Amino acid sequence: MTQPPEPLPFPTSLCHRCAAPPRYVRTQTSTFILCPLLPQKYPPQPVHACALFRPANPEKKGG
Ligand code: SF4
Repeated sequence: MTQPPEPLPFPTSLCHRCAAPPRYVRTQTSTFILCPLLPQKYPPQPVHACALFRPANPEKKGG
């Protein structure tokens, strides 16, 4: 699993909570979110709606 970077780029993006899972590609100045499912790889961020979204961690509270 790819560790989310700090600071998280586009914190409101659905991608962070997606089971795709997205990969974080860091350059010297920015962090990009690479989606393994979309043909264009880099969707315009922040993604607020995505047909391919699946939650990475279904509600799991109290262990
Ligand atoms: S499937 Fe959609 S929500 Fe999931 S990482 Fe790709 S673009 Fe983001």
